[in-house]
Amino acid sequence: MGKIIDGSDPFSPEHVTHSALLESGNEESPEVMNTIPITIVGAAGRMGRMLVQAVHAEAGVAVAGAVEREDTPHLGADVGTIAGIGEIGVRIEHSLDRALAAAGVCIDFTLPAPTIEHAGTCRSRCCPMVIGTTGLSSDQLEALEDAARDIAVVHAPNMSVGVNLCFKLLDIAARALGDGVDVEIIEAHHRNKVDAPSGTAVRMGEIVAGALGRDLAECAVYGREGHTGIRDRKTIGFETIRAGDVVGEHTVMFAGEGERIELTHRAASRANFAAGAVRATRWVAHRPPGLYDMQDVLGLR
Ligand code: NAD
Repeated sequence: MGKIIDGSDPFSPEHVTHSALLESGNEESPEVMNTIPITIVGAAGRMGRMLVQAVHAEAGVAVAGAVEREDTPHLGADVGTIAGIGEIGVRIEHSLDRALAAAGVCIDFTLPAPTIEHAGTCRSRCCPMVIGTTGLSSDQLEALEDAARDIAVVHAPNMSVGVNLCFKLLDIAARALGDGVDVEIIEAHHRNKVDAPSGTAVRMGEIVAGALGRDLAECAVYGREGHTGIRDRKTIGFETIRAGDVVGEHTVMFAGEGERIELTHRAASRANFAAGAVRATRWVAHRPPGLYDMQDVLGLR
């Protein structure tokens, strides 16, 4: 219970608002070193629970609010209990506007339509956001860009630090190797995943295609069967494995004559997404308005 920032007291000395962080203008100032109160939206979801655990476990950040949809059975419950870490003194509520009164940053892992609605509420409260929700349409991405004129927003469909580092390494590798290699992307996920290839695998393909001056829509080959003919070097192949409880594995193979480079990322649990989101939270708390992603957070631009 020692880490609780009481959501009812936004003026507590520990409470650092976004404007105070911006006014300080100094990432090293003692003010910025203070605890950042965080409101988690979708708090009872799979990622929400991981986020509650991650934020509560780290110094310098604290769970200050927890929001869920109106018809969830968890309304009124202590969010720490729902996350399996015992009571932390923050109850799950439905009103994001009210929960933001105590927030320095809002983290949202819900669904596309609610996420856009929440971005409007955060905009009106001048509260920066970290958004992990995937599957936003182009209209919804535009709406997010619009909200980001007034608040800082980090949006990344994959918050894993390792995956985002791999994105950068893939760009470097593809540019160095050029058209002299065959590129194959192999991904594996648990048997309950319903889409293929994974969004992360597609993003890896886009990065490699972009670095090689290709259009992924034109050069992607999804699986092979029968008499395929010899491989066209300008294609990028995707292979998908669905089996057991694999959390998520991605390998990009650059195969040339006499040598092969393989870049692999293996996720062992969802905790890595939550850790990346917490890192993004610290980063976004003192950024000017704009739409950012994990490449910005990690300084990889
Ligand atoms: P989930 O279904 O377990 O959790 C989503 C939660 O959001 C649920 O508890 C639901 O009740 C809540 N919710 C829905 N509408 C709401 C509303 N209007 N207000 C408040 N809460 C609302 O799903 P999940 O596995 O936790 O994933 C959530 C999202 O995060 C998905 O889009 C998923 O693809 C994405 N995700 C992103 C990353 C990443 O690294 N960026 C990692 C994992 C999952």
